[in-house]
This record gives sequence, structure tokens and C-alpha cells, in this order.
Amino acid sequence: MHIKPLSEDLRNKIAAGEVVERPASVVKELIENSLDAGATEISIVIEKGGHQLIQVSDNGGGIAPDELETAVHRYTTSKIETVDDLFNINSLGFRGEALASIASVSEMQLASCANGDGGFLINIYDGEAGKMEPSEPVSGTRIDVRNLFYNTPARKKFLKSQRVEFRQIVQMVKRYALAYPEVAMKLIHDEKEILNLQSESFKERIDNVLDPTYSQNILEVNSLKGDFSVSGFVGNLNLVRSRPGEQYIFLNRRFIKHRLLNNAVYSAYRSLVKRGEYPFFALNLVQPTDQIDVNVHPMKIEVRFKDEWRLYHVLKSAVEEALETSMWPMNGFSTKMR
Ligand code: ADP
Ligand code: MG
Repeated sequence: MHIKPLSEDLRNKIAAGEVVERPASVVKELIENSLDAGATEISIVIEKGGHQLIQVSDNGGGIAPDELETAVHRYTTSKIETVDDLFNINSLGFRGEALASIASVSEMQLASCANGDGGFLINIYDGEAGKMEPSEPVSGTRIDVRNLFYNTPARKKFLKSQRVEFRQIVQMVKRYALAYPEVAMKLIHDEKEILNLQSESFKERIDNVLDPTYSQNILEVNSLKGDFSVSGFVGNLNLVRSRPGEQYIFLNRRFIKHRLLNNAVYSAYRSLVKRGEYPFFALNLVQPTDQIDVNVHPMKIEVRFKDEWRLYHVLKSAVEEALETSMWPMNGFSTKMR
């Protein structure tokens, strides 16, 4: 056996194994790119649960024509340059591998218009970019991803039904819709409008994304402890569910999953809910970037903190404060309130 370098295409497909699990992961990466590009409007068009088409268009800064092809290479990014930058991440992306990974397992078209140029596009097939062509005008960038996993049948086999994959996409879009209420977002599936969100406040966004009754049942959280802040909303007992799913923690505007931080919130509810009951919360944590490492996994949903127990306590007391002032104003709380 000889040791040989893997081809670029093979490297991308291996990376795609981590970044592109299913249609929802493509949606995630494309929305993040649009947000990083400063978009104020993002439109997501899906066909057949993402099996057939995932298209994300934005009105962000766009990609210069001579950089279109570079954008789909692996480890090419406009977001970081030095190792120091890696510990001071202010964008959602920084690894420079999403477009390359997605392009290696789909048919991709990348159309963009930067600094008022006319708009150009490239088609990427099997990881190879074709010639650049003029495109019809786009207001920023539009990326079409077709036939996901057409060239990796083993992966394609694991795709679930269109309905199940679409449900995952909706979940994903909701996370970003909640994290960026000032950004207008539209989601269309098989020509049906699923979400059409205007720029709005966080509270209005919660109503429009989750349910119009939510704003009547949420309590505001607002706390600043040194360089760490917590803001957002937690649900009252009307929004307690027997299954998890509506617990949102955003760290510096990135949706994260962190068991200890979730537990911090649950423990603030300790005497109010039973085991196996899950309150609603949507909380924005802000912390200096040098206290955090998001480069744990390519999907960046896991985060490491310098001092996670400090966060635990700050978060817990922030939520307790909100619950106490709003729910226990009159001498004690009783479960009869439910
Ligand atoms: P990363 O986001 O980690 O930098 P990606 O592979 O997702 O890597 O994207 C590569 C580069 O392509 C980005 O750094 C950015 O410069 C450019 N890009 C991708 N999508 C967009 C977009 N919607 N608008 C503007 N630029 C984009
Ligand atoms: Mg990216």
C-alpha cells in the first residue's frame, strides 16, 4: 500500500460528510452566509423537501465575479485571516468549507452581483466549476442546490421522506428567524408560502414564527453581569410542553445546544414544572468572543466556554428574576395558577 494525497473532490466529499448531513444542513449554511453578507432580506425556496431544490437568495453584499469560483473552493473564506481571528469570531461562518462541501455532493449554481456589477453566475457540477456567465440581475447572491447527494448514493439512501426533511428545514429556518428578527425572511415549499416575515421586534417575531398567542404568555429576561448579558423571553406555565423542542439559546446570535445552559434555565423553573415538562425559552446570550470557542465541530452548534459555571449561575438567576417578578408578584406561587 502506498500513501497518496486524496484528490480535492474526495477531500470535499469527506468534509461534506460532516457539514452536509441533510437538506436542512444546506439551508443552515446558506442562511448563515447570507446573514454574514449583511442581508436584510432572505428568501428560501424548497422543492420536494429539499431533495430536488434548495434555493437561498439574499440582498447582501454579493461576491465579486472574479471570486465566484474561489468561493466554492475548500478553505477559502473572506471572514478570517489569522490564527488570532480564530479566537475572535464575529461571523457565523469562518471555516471556508460549506460551499465546497455542498458543491461536491450536489449540482450548484452560484449567481451574485457585487458593487453594482451586472451579475454573474457559475454552475458547479461534480465539484468542477464551469465557465462564468452573465446572469439576470440579482440583488445580492442566489445559490441553487439541486439533486443533493446525487453522486453519493450511500448518503442519499439516508434521506428521509420529503415531509420529514422539510420539517427539519422549517426547524432550522425558525432558529435563524428568531435569532435575527430584524431580517425579513420568506420560506416557500413546493410553491406554497410557509413563512413570510417582515423585519420586526423579537417579541413580534416569536408570535409570527411560533404562535400568535405566545407574546401573551412570555416574560422578559434582561440581565447584565460584567461582560456577560442575557436577554430575551421565557414562557409562563401555559407554554410548558411534555416534549422538548422550543428551547432556544443563542450565543452571540448563533443557535447553540448546550446541556448545562439548558439545565440552568430548567433549574430556575424547578418548583414550577415537573420532571419531563419543558418550558419555552428564547434567550440571547452575549459574551466576549475570547471567552468562547466555537471551533469545536464543523456544524458549530457546540461551543466551549472558558467558564461555563459562571454562565450557568448568571443565566439561572436571570431567569429566576424574570419568573419571580412576573409570576410570583402576590405572595407565593401555587400550581393552581396552571
Ligand atoms: P465561510 O462562510 O466559512 O467563509 P463558505 O464556504 O460558506 O465559507 O463561503 C465561502 C465564501 O463565499 C465566504 O467567505 C463569502 O466570502 C462568500 N459567500 C458565500 N455565500 C455568500 C453570500 N450569500 N453572499 C456573499 N458572499 C458569500
Ligand atoms: Mg459559510
